[in-house]
Parts: sequence; C-alpha cells; structure tokens
Amino acid sequence: MSDIAFALNEDQLQLQKWVHDFAEDVIRPAAHEWDEREETPWEIIQEAAKIGLYGFEFMAHAFQDSTGISMPMINEELFWGDAGIGMSIIGSTLGVAAIMGNGTPEQIMEWIPQCFGTPEKLALGAFCVSEPDAGSDVSSLRTTAKYDEAKDEWVLNGTKTWITNGGIADVHVVVASVDRDLGSRGQASFIVPPGTPGLSQGTKFKKMGIRASHTAEVILEDVRVPGSCLLGGKEKLDERLARAREGTSAKTQAAMSTFESSRPIVGSQAIGIARAAYEYALDYAKEREQFNRKIIENQAIAFTLADMKTEIDAARLLVWRAAWMGRNGIPFENGEGSMSKLKAGEVAVWVTERAIQVLGGYGYIRENPVERWHRDAKIYDIFEGTAEIQRLVIARSISGMRIP
Ligand SMILES: Cc1cc2nc3c(=O)[nH]c(=O)nc-3n(C[C@H](O)[C@H](O)[C@H](O)COP(=O)(O)OP(=O)(O)OC[C@H]3O[C@@H](n4cnc5c(N)ncnc54)[C@H](O)[C@@H]3O)c2cc1C
Repeated sequence: MSDIAFALNEDQLQLQKWVHDFAEDVIRPAAHEWDEREETPWEIIQEAAKIGLYGFEFMAHAFQDSTGISMPMINEELFWGDAGIGMSIIGSTLGVAAIMGNGTPEQIMEWIPQCFGTPEKLALGAFCVSEPDAGSDVSSLRTTAKYDEAKDEWVLNGTKTWITNGGIADVHVVVASVDRDLGSRGQASFIVPPGTPGLSQGTKFKKMGIRASHTAEVILEDVRVPGSCLLGGKEKLDERLARAREGTSAKTQAAMSTFESSRPIVGSQAIGIARAAYEYALDYAKEREQFNRKIIENQAIAFTLADMKTEIDAARLLVWRAAWMGRNGIPFENGEGSMSKLKAGEVAVWVTERAIQVLGGYGYIRENPVERWHRDAKIYDIFEGTAEIQRLVIARSISGMRIP
C-alpha cells in the first residue's frame, strides 16, 4: 500500500457531504441577510450545534484525523456556504488551537469544551494576540502579565484589537508579555475564564467582508486569573524564560506555534470562497448569451475559468500538504504552512475578482453573491499573517537567513 494518497477516504467523503449539505441548505440561504445585518448569526451556530457540527466532540474528532485533511475539508465546505457565517462557526477554534498547542492535558479537557458550550447554551472562544501597535510584529506586544506570587494569580493589562469573537466569547485566550525584554520569547498564553472581571469589549468594527463574524477590541484592566490559567504551566514557562535569558533559543513562542498549525486551515477557508465564486461564474458563463452565443464560447472567458479552476486546485494541494505535514509532525522546513495560506489567500482574491468580471455588471451588484465573495476573500491576504509576512517566513525558511 502506498503512503500517499490524493483521494479522500470513505469517512472523509461522508463527512464532506454532511458539511456540504449543511452549507448548502442552511448557511448559503442565510448568507446575504447576515452580511447585511453585520451581526453574529447565533441561530445558525445553534443549528450547527444541534446537528453536532459545532462542539467539542466534533472538533476533537476532526483534529484527530491522522491525515490532517478533515479540518481543511470541513472548513472549505463551510466557507463555500458563506465566509462570515463560516467564521462565526469556526472562529472559536482559533482559541481552541491555542489551548491544544500550548495547554496541558488537564487544561485541554477543562477549557476546550467551554469554548463551544452546548446547543442549549452556546459558548464561543477567542484568541487575542493583535494589538493597536503590534499587528505583524507580534514580538512587540504591550499587554503585560504579572505574577502575584502571594495569591498564585496572574494580572493582565492591555488592549487587544481586531479580535474575532472579542468581548462576546466565553473563553478568551490572551497572549501577553511576561518579560518584554525577551520579545516573543518572553510571551505566554493565558485563559481568561467566562465572566472574569476587568475584561470588556471595546469598539466593534464595521468591516468590508466576513461581516457576520464579530470583530472587536478587547480591553484588559487588572484582569486576575488563577495560576492554573497559564497555558502549559509555570514550570515550563520558567524554564523557557531561563533558556531565553541565557540566549539559548526557546523552542516555541506562544502565538507563533498556534499560527503555524492554523495556517493551512485558514487557507482552506479561502479556497471555499474561491470555489464558490468559480462555480457560480462557470454556471453563469454557460447560460449568459451575448452576440448570439454563450459567453463561455469566447476563449477569453473559457480560459479565465480554466485558470480559476487550476489555481484553486493548486492552492488546495498546498493546503492539504501543509495540513498533512502539521498533523504528522513533519517540520515546515520551507515555510510550507505559510506557502499554503499565502497561495490560497491570493488565489481567493484573484478568483473572486475574475468571477465579478465574468458576470459583468451582474457581478457588481448585491443581488449576486460574487461581490460579497470578493469582499470576503480580501481578509485572507491580511489576517493570520499578511501576504508579506508569509513571504517573509518562506524566505527565511528557504534561505536560513534572518531577512529583515
Ligand atoms: C477581520 C479580522 C479578524 C481578525 N481576527 C484576529 C483574531 O481573532 N486574533 C488576533 O489576534 N488578530 C486578529 N486579526 C488581526 C490580524 O491578524 C492583523 O490585522 C494582521 O496580523 C496584520 O496586522 P496589522 O493589521 O496591524 O497590519 P500591520 O502589521 O501594520 O501591516 C501593515 C502593512 O505592512 C506590511 N508589513 C508589516 N511588516 C512588514 C515587513 N516586515 N515586511 C513587509 N511588509 C510588512 C503588512 O504586510 C501590511 O501590508 C484580525 C484582523 C481582521 C481584519
């Protein structure tokens, strides 16, 4: 039997169909409404929870798939339905990934279920890294975490911005600086449990795309969390800080290790949007007539569609490779995680723009979803590391040099 396969197995095909049916029957019909409302679609998250698509068990099952492909596949289908609603359903997994990547087994069991809640009492998770003055440069975080030894508590202060589910989440995972002199090596991740005093929502942002997904500032004012909320535990942090102070490189950095594992998943979301736009444009081009022929009978249109499909499939292969590598512990020696997210994001922006072109004026008006897909796609050049930062990661990986 060969080690490598490009086809989905039976379980994955079933899972893909199940998620696709939900995206087609529940998400897509609601997409326009929630884009206009710019609010969290609680009803739809609840529908997802009721059928078991939003919840701890489902996500644990998907993350455990030894091929690593299930999570990107699920994301592609959900975001094919709609990216704003998709992000409302999947946004909690950013916090979940941070807990999985940095937490002890006890912390994983305690906090991950609380990021989802139950169908009757939904909960959300959030991952809070970005700050007004620290976006791409995550080493310069100003949010501080100070240890109060007498009470065995951490005290968090600072402002986070652009946070998906920020302020409305039940569980916030906050990356803060324990020792600012050490840059990102002096940072750690903390759980802020539901209802902790001092954490509040600041401005809620109005956005260009993924408008059903809530994005807001998170203000932390003397937020006290128990010592047990430091992900990975104090002993491990102290060892890491000591190594960093001695100048020995610390193996993991709090925010970076989360981003590495989530990049292919984010890439698969972009592919879902691109595929939606490509399929819509293909159908349209086969129907629409000008000059007494279908517009697809013009090579200019047919070749555009051929390129769209080729780019989408190429991006998906990069995503699946990175997801497989990540799941099987194969190091991203050439920045493969970044490659997958970079390519998928740029493909989504390009494909959705081309889809508007294929539809002409009909692509530019809100009655057709392609203009929304283009607005939604643009975020994939920006969050979870901009396109420039992905290129930086790849360039550093392939050269082994500290390219500034
Ligand atoms: C809708 C949305 C949701 C988000 N969700 C979250 C979330 O849940 N949690 C979270 O922590 N963050 C989140 N973010 C934040 C996101 O990750 C940041 O916006 C992103 O990392 C970029 O940071 P910045 O916006 O400060 O841009 P900047 O870092 O200021 O970058 C501005 C421009 O300069 C370029 N640039 C910067 N440095 C370099 C360099 N060294 N070389 C070349 N070019 C460079 C960038 O590529 C970009 O083009 C979200 C953002 C948005 C818009």
